[in-house]
Amino acid sequence: MIVALAGGVGGAKLAQGLYHVSPPDSLAVIVNTGDDFELFGLRISPDADTVMYTLAGIANPATGWGVVNDTRATLEMLGRYGYELWFQLGDNDFATHIARTAQLRAGDSLTEVTRRLSRALGMRAALLPMCDEGVATLVDTPAGRLAFQDYFVRRRHADPVSGIVLDGIEAATITADAAQAIARATVIVVCPSNPVVSIGPILAVNGYRSALAASSAPRVAISPIVGGKALRGPADQMLAGLGHDVSAFGVAQLYGGLVDGFVIDHADREQAERIGALGMRVLVTDAVMRDEPDRQRLAREVLDFAADIGSSKR
Ligand code: GDP
Ligand code: CA
Repeated sequence: MIVALAGGVGGAKLAQGLYHVSPPDSLAVIVNTGDDFELFGLRISPDADTVMYTLAGIANPATGWGVVNDTRATLEMLGRYGYELWFQLGDNDFATHIARTAQLRAGDSLTEVTRRLSRALGMRAALLPMCDEGVATLVDTPAGRLAFQDYFVRRRHADPVSGIVLDGIEAATITADAAQAIARATVIVVCPSNPVVSIGPILAVNGYRSALAASSAPRVAISPIVGGKALRGPADQMLAGLGHDVSAFGVAQLYGGLVDGFVIDHADREQAERIGALGMRVLVTDAVMRDEPDRQRLAREVLDFAADIGSSKR
């Protein structure tokens, strides 16, 4: 069993690569739910949906999120009713949120609902929310403490970030499914997702750090920072705002003690030695996934790297 930890768009790219280069039911993706929120009374799980649509083969390739060729009739009608349309939701996407909300209201856990939705779309990898409890990522900025989607989408992640609060995290616990997947893992992959607001919340849920520490599987992370910058989104600004080094090395420092191997881009080759000194093996490669063949190429390299680490770990 390959276990991947992922946020949204960056995580989904590598998760799709892993999905396509390995037997389809041998992958479990544990996904951040700190971005989840309610809109129009509907429960939206942006990162889970991005991974689900991507692995089900229906993601919009232009954005990396949302459903390909989706229409906007529902949103436009809501606009006529006077609602502010700051969060893009296609009609197909609305159906996902309606189904999720209805099933949660009927009393099923987020894990159970997510399993049902992803299976219905033909996704054979297991899609596991990081927890069933509600956790909300809040972002401290000069404009005050903002709900995550307010910061990220409505205000286009333009505010400097001075702190992150994970509301509800004390009560959140690793799910039985995620614990079992990690216990059975032969490889653990920390995808190139935002280390602060995608991987950070997963690692902050009670039980993940100890489960990862207890695993004898090789654990490999891929840097989302290439050449001192995030390929998209605010990961670089967030690292800076929180006082971390804005580099692959800075990300490696955050994962110190949690992973055995770290993958960086050629652009960051000169950091390999410093990262190695953190107690990780380092793979220097082309870490940018431009298209689908690239995702599979990087996935293969990550699995080979992990196998190599695994053969020396025991
Ligand atoms: P979000 O939840 O949609 O913001 O997505 P994630 O947290 O999963 O991923 C965001 C991160 O993915 C950003 O920091 C990007 O730098 C990183 N990213 C996106 N594409 C790539 C890629 O091709 N290679 C690498 N190494 N990182 C990537
Ligand atoms: Ca996200």
